Amino acid sequence: MSVPPREDLAALLKWYVDHGLDETIGEEAVDRFALPPPPVVVPPQNATAPTPIRAPAAPPAVRAPVPLESPQLVEDARELARRCTTIVELEEAVRAFEGCALKRTAKNTVFADGVPGAPVMVVGEAPGADEDRLGKPFVGVSGQLMDRMFDAIGMSRGRDLYITNILFWRPPGNRTPTLAEQAICLAFTRRHIELARPKLLVLAGGTAAKAVLDTAEGIMRLRGKWTTLKLDDGTEVPTMPTFHPAYLLRTPASKRQSWLDLLAIDEKLRELGAKVSS
Ligand code: URA
Repeated sequence: MSVPPREDLAALLKWYVDHGLDETIGEEAVDRFALPPPPVVVPPQNATAPTPIRAPAAPPAVRAPVPLESPQLVEDARELARRCTTIVELEEAVRAFEGCALKRTAKNTVFADGVPGAPVMVVGEAPGADEDRLGKPFVGVSGQLMDRMFDAIGMSRGRDLYITNILFWRPPGNRTPTLAEQAICLAFTRRHIELARPKLLVLAGGTAAKAVLDTAEGIMRLRGKWTTLKLDDGTEVPTMPTFHPAYLLRTPASKRQSWLDLLAIDEKLRELGAKVSS
């Protein structure tokens, strides 16, 4: 078979990326037309309900399945995180951790950015394509909006902010992380908050807010209200859930509410004596 011209291949690749297919998850292409049909399901002898003749099509058998749902992985992550006594140790533990399947499709581990020990710690959802490429959280368009928002209350990631996500690896195609993926990474993130000891925690977006606060309440109800996060070491951190900047890019009218959240953060920092200027 002749190889198509380079520009045709580049155009095809661009077409894939434009349609959201921006991850390679196997070394070899799989010809699904050449795969054997799925097995016939034999109904049990005493079955009363009708059983489908064929099983639903199996998911692509590209990689070995990872036991993501295993509660043991969450336990392992908790134990590893608990043993870390500094942020540097925690970062090493996260980078060495192999229990989250997202790591296999991600280019980089995205741990944190900003100043460890800063008065405000921001926790978002998960790295996107830019963050995955650069290995830092919130460096894409939504991160740039977040920087401008904090700048409006005189705060910067170079001085006043410490930024991370509940997930350290980009979910393929930016899909919402599964609950198992969240639970595994959250074990590290909770320890991360304990070790960073921020004066205030800001949870950016519904996924981060629900996971960190362990609530089913949506961001529409949670945002703008102070709550207290209680950590395993007994620390209590005033916490403000707010809209995710990516949501604000899609829904600019909600920026007004985010501005109120920022003003509340500014006021709380002053109350706590953690902000004196601007
Ligand atoms: N969205 C997030 O939640 N985190 C990032 O780091 C980037 C985009």
